[in-house]
Amino acid sequence: MAVMVTGGAGYIGSHAVLALLDAGHEVVVIDNLVTGFAWAVDPRATLVQCDVADEGRVRAAIRGHHVDAILHFAGSVVVPESVSDPLKYYRNNTVASRALLESAVCEGVRHFIFSSTAATYGTPERVPVAEGDPTVPINPYGMSKLMTEAMLRDVAAAHPINYAVLRYFNVAGADPQGRSGQSTAGATHLIKVAVEAATGRRSHVSIFGTDFPTRDGTGVRDYIHVHDLAKAHVAALDLLRADPSLNHTLNAGYGRGFSVAEVLDAVDRVTNMTIERRLEGRRAGDPAELVADNRAILATLDWRPERDDLDLIVRDALAWERRLAERDAED
Ligand code: UDP
Repeated sequence: MAVMVTGGAGYIGSHAVLALLDAGHEVVVIDNLVTGFAWAVDPRATLVQCDVADEGRVRAAIRGHHVDAILHFAGSVVVPESVSDPLKYYRNNTVASRALLESAVCEGVRHFIFSSTAATYGTPERVPVAEGDPTVPINPYGMSKLMTEAMLRDVAAAHPINYAVLRYFNVAGADPQGRSGQSTAGATHLIKVAVEAATGRRSHVSIFGTDFPTRDGTGVRDYIHVHDLAKAHVAALDLLRADPSLNHTLNAGYGRGFSVAEVLDAVDRVTNMTIERRLEGRRAGDPAELVADNRAILATLDWRPERDDLDLIVRDALAWERRLAERDAED
């Protein structure tokens, strides 16, 4: 029996592949390698290069590897891009997920874990935000994921498949053993941008918005280490297999927020540098504050955070960034 990981050549997916392999699972990766990298897939896994919407190839892989569970990471993830190109997000995130679900149902896959996002909440009425709070996305990215959550709920009610939806907060860091990390060139996520600046790949970091109603005016987010997030997926898989009658929607965060300025302070601290900050206007689609109420995930999964420390997240992200820089220098 094998586990299928879509987007397994991407940032979070490649870490989930490592966590699954380390736990002894057999893994088959589906990735079109548009934003992912073949070298990011651990050689212990099988890589099938195709789109998740390619029902013929996906169904053949499910059959050929006796897949009973799918972890669905593949998708587009940049909030501002979703505002300027919404149809890309509805195609890559919503329409492709519909096709994948059809493949799963037709082949009798029993368990499905979906990478959702705190962006499904939009601007929360209260922070920390809990899973039962209203989901009113303020950008197409969040809506494209929320629509997939709705499909999954309906599919699980109609067919013998159960699911876990993990609503990720801000994922950062890299594999503590240095086997993977965030490798996408031109990435827009704050900690990635900051470590790129620290290694000379960028001249400065822009702070998008200094007039939010937060403690220092900059946006507040709940940063979770990618290693912990990957292990939460393994725990979710164990739970889905142990009790096929239950579905779960869980926030994946640490339950505490840091402002942009506080994150940049941490980067300065860890690197012993003073990275140039430029104050700029707000970015389209950004809420002021997103922090997880994480009591449900702690109560539901056999999982405890191991790397809940902002400086550690930055240190691991920086170590990976330095490896990338060395690799570039060798080429
Ligand atoms: N941000 C920033 N400068 C950057 C990238 C991000 O000030 O170069 C801010 C952004 O406005 C938000 C926070 O950092 O308040 C986290 O943004 P990111 O893009 O990392 O993740 P998102 O929360 O949009 O998924």
